[in-house]
Amino acid sequence: MVECTDLSISPSDPPLVAIALGSNLGQPLLQLRSALQVLAQTPGISVLACSPWYRTAPVGPPQPDYWNGCLLAQVQLSPWALLKRLQAIEAQFGRQRQEHWGARTLDLDLLLYGDRSIRTPDLTVPHPRLAERPFVLVPLAAIAPQWRHPLLGETIQTLRERVGDAGIIAVLSDDAGETTFATAADRRLPEPRQ
Ligand code: ATP
Ligand code: CA
Ligand code: CA
Repeated sequence: MVECTDLSISPSDPPLVAIALGSNLGQPLLQLRSALQVLAQTPGISVLACSPWYRTAPVGPPQPDYWNGCLLAQVQLSPWALLKRLQAIEAQFGRQRQEHWGARTLDLDLLLYGDRSIRTPDLTVPHPRLAERPFVLVPLAAIAPQWRHPLLGETIQTLRERVGDAGIIAVLSDDAGETTFATAADRRLPEPRQ
């Protein structure tokens, strides 16, 4: 897959979207990689780039560490149709909604949809907590540093520098197939869990 850092996409192209992937139940890395394949094979979704996978500390109730990543895609689906697709894929991977921010086999969040700003009961874009989450901004900045948050007017790279990388424990590159480096905290994992 190409790296997509300049976002030089013409206005006539299908909208560019950013999607966050997360998992901390079952076999998280396996599920994330399979979900990426499912998304890439979904009609109306053309995946352009995917970040490395990052192991991250959980937010919310006590639960296992997460694995997180982000992807960029061009879509021929409306924001609501895309959300429905994402939720159907979550269900396909056994996602059950129990406690708020509780453990899950797969979480797919729509982070950005072009430069659109949407606020409806079932969908808010940009994702309302995007700008405060290192576990989203670190992977997103790896593939779309120059994308400007449509409401804040700042680039993903700027937002990522602002939040830092607390709780981001390591990165697993699918290209290298192994843990390649730790982030600023420089804590290397003994072994990936899958
Ligand atoms: P968070 O939204 O803080 O990351 P979460 O991912 O655990 O929390 P979910 O239980 O997966 O939250 O989703 C709750 C609801 O959020 C969904 O029913 C969905 O309609 C709504 N939602 C609103 N905006 C978005 C978005 N941009 N992406 C995904 N879901 C969204
Ligand atoms: Ca989420
Ligand atoms: Ca979600």
